[in-house]
Amino acid sequence: MAPPDAAFRLDCHVHTRHSKDARGSVLDLAVAAQAAGLGGFCLTDHDTVAGHAHIREAQEKTGLLIVPAIEVTSAEGHILALGVREDVPRGLGYLETREHVEDQGGVAVPAHPLRSFSGMGPRALHHHTDEGQILAVEAVNARERRLVQQNTRKLVSELGVSPLGGSDAHWVHDVGAAYTVLDDAPGSVDDVLDAIRRGACRAEGTPLRRLSVLGHTASLWAGPLRRRFIDRQEARRP
Ligand SMILES: [Zn+2]
Ligand SMILES: [Zn+2]
Repeated sequence: MAPPDAAFRLDCHVHTRHSKDARGSVLDLAVAAQAAGLGGFCLTDHDTVAGHAHIREAQEKTGLLIVPAIEVTSAEGHILALGVREDVPRGLGYLETREHVEDQGGVAVPAHPLRSFSGMGPRALHHHTDEGQILAVEAVNARERRLVQQNTRKLVSELGVSPLGGSDAHWVHDVGAAYTVLDDAPGSVDDVLDAIRRGACRAEGTPLRRLSVLGHTASLWAGPLRRRFIDRQEARRP
């Protein structure tokens, strides 16, 4: 058995500034991922592949394996589309979304399934898994609280699908807070996808400090609020 420090850690859920609500370039994230001891990560910006153009440079400079991906806003919650290189339409049901992802050779993974509004929820998860349409689910998302993480882990183990872990980092320093451990170090994106399909992986991670999650939320509000304050001041001027 390989020693624990030889494990290959892959953060399956990472945002860059190409997501409107995140900060940091692909290279910034790669440098932080390397410092966090990861072997790679999945680049999962919201509904865009714009960041993919920077993958090659970030890989060359850090030696990490970066999986091209998207976090798709589907009608049944957020879906990590791992291994895709082209946009996947948003707003479709899970099955249609999955079809687009598989047409590109990727794997569709429901993200943070127990999150209100943007998670698929246990009912639909059970339904699609029973129909054989789900192979993997994000079991640990670092932005969830500990109790939600425990409940999600339990649910994913009941479903018997591959458990993935991801930080859902929107800030550079959050990368690696949760990750997927692969049994064998992958040499390519296809190796990663194969391991996920075969279940040769497990999810690890801890919740992010609430300060980081709240700080990110506050920064999203700060810009528009400041703008509104300035507009109001300007409107008051004679
Ligand atoms: Zn999400
Ligand atoms: Zn996300």
